[in-house]
Amino acid sequence: MKIRFCGATQGVTGSCHLLMTDRHQMLLDCGQFQGGKSQDRLNFDEFPFDPSEVECMVLSHAHIDHCGRIPLLVKRGFSGPIYCTKATADLLPIMLRDSGYIHEKEAEWANKKAERKGQPLVEPLYTVEDAERSLKYITPVLYDQRIEVNDEMHICFNDAGHILGSAEIEIWVKDIDQDRETKIVFSGDLGVENRPILNDPTFIKKADYVIMETTYGNRIHPENAMSIRNLVSVILRTVKRGGNVVIPAFAVGRTQEMIYELNKLYDEDPKMYEQLKDVPVYIDSPMASAATEVFCNNTAVFDDEAKSYIANGDHPLEFRNLHFTKTTEESKHLNEGGKPKIIISASGMCEAGRIRHHLKHNLWDPKSSIVFVGYQAEGTLGRKLVEGTDTVNLFGEEIKVNAEIVNLEGFSGHADRDGLAKWISHFQTDPVVFLVHGEPDSKHDFAEFIGEKFGIHPIVVEQNSEFPLARGEKISGTKVGNTYDYELSDEEIRGLQNKISQLSTSIGDLLNSAAMATGSSMNPEKLIRVNNLIRTLDENQQELQAELLETGGED
Ligand SMILES: [Zn+2]
Ligand SMILES: [Zn+2]
Repeated sequence: MKIRFCGATQGVTGSCHLLMTDRHQMLLDCGQFQGGKSQDRLNFDEFPFDPSEVECMVLSHAHIDHCGRIPLLVKRGFSGPIYCTKATADLLPIMLRDSGYIHEKEAEWANKKAERKGQPLVEPLYTVEDAERSLKYITPVLYDQRIEVNDEMHICFNDAGHILGSAEIEIWVKDIDQDRETKIVFSGDLGVENRPILNDPTFIKKADYVIMETTYGNRIHPENAMSIRNLVSVILRTVKRGGNVVIPAFAVGRTQEMIYELNKLYDEDPKMYEQLKDVPVYIDSPMASAATEVFCNNTAVFDDEAKSYIANGDHPLEFRNLHFTKTTEESKHLNEGGKPKIIISASGMCEAGRIRHHLKHNLWDPKSSIVFVGYQAEGTLGRKLVEGTDTVNLFGEEIKVNAEIVNLEGFSGHADRDGLAKWISHFQTDPVVFLVHGEPDSKHDFAEFIGEKFGIHPIVVEQNSEFPLARGEKISGTKVGNTYDYELSDEEIRGLQNKISQLSTSIGDLLNSAAMATGSSMNPEKLIRVNNLIRTLDENQQELQAELLETGGED
């Protein structure tokens, strides 16, 4: 068996790794390279494998740097299932259609220029139609569900707490001839503990090989609570000056977290609510509005705090004075002066989208504030602003930077160095660790840190490269893989017992409320939907019963 690292090897974007046995090929992520022209060009390169030979794909989450080249992969011959969680599957159409649209627009602009210069025309990386076509391969699965991929491999998705639907993936590969099994864990992107809306990242204990992200391998985030306080004070002083607060935020994830935090603040702090209740909050991104709807349809994977808001009748993604702009007219209207407002718009790194218009209209104004709440990759406009540039060029116009620029890193959706170290330290089986998805310093500093702290000596992946995954075989000067058996631990057994007892309470409650809700006031569509869900529930319970009746003692 071999692993070929085909992306996110020199920076944080373009996540793409190929797992190969003699008979099967599985792709882990197929993300887009982002961050300036040099990165964009990489997207047009041939894949370092034949897409038509890849049997299936496993997708960690719906960020473009992890899924953005799926339409291209399909265009070049891939036709297998793309396994991902249900929430990721719901987000993908929004992400990929939007990405297809951006590629079409970019090609259009490039071609206008090329035409004038008499240069040859370019093709978009892929179109909205290509994106559409790739959606039929999406195969949604549940967290914690064992999926047989082929006769050699099975997989399981665990919550990574990074964005809605994000996953750490466990992959087991059977070696039939040798009668043994190798386990690979792919971290995807790891989230932060105690984040709003999302569950904490899952700690996994067993693996032979771990492929792990290191976005913040050498950084420590400030306390989250402090960032919320900071955000509030920026809002208050900006409003006092009579300016606007412009927040570039990823349409998926960060935007909903901002809505959630503001709702929570208004809820818990009546004094603050009094001061801010007349400051309108605009979500000015069609994609963010669509993504917020996906969040509302996937409350099942929310964390306990968010679920308790819903149980108490306060939807955590709604509050008074929150507006979703729909048309470009409405969007333009936001820049026609008027009272101070909060504008949350995409893209998060200011590379595209409506945010660039809001920057044009607010950057020059010393009364306004631009608040960054997420990671700004090298080469992006966001990074330039965070690093203190004096002027920027927007729509062919030079704009002076007079607005207050604030960087609130505590809102990051990525685990910091200590979070990453905690995650890797939970493995009890001394796995071989590959570090990817980080800038070079970040990977090296993290490798040094976990070497000193835990005696873990990872392999720092620095370029597209291939490694054999054969247990017992030396794959670097420092590390030899270990063997272990797959005896069930007490903890695993207790885990299942806990789940069963939780489920028995919630199923009782659920059936009671279903019985109460079923009446003549129910509309026909709802009746059909509820009926279908009840049928699935019934099938599942019959399957479970059959499983339990079978004599145990499987090998
Ligand atoms: Zn991500
Ligand atoms: Zn990522």
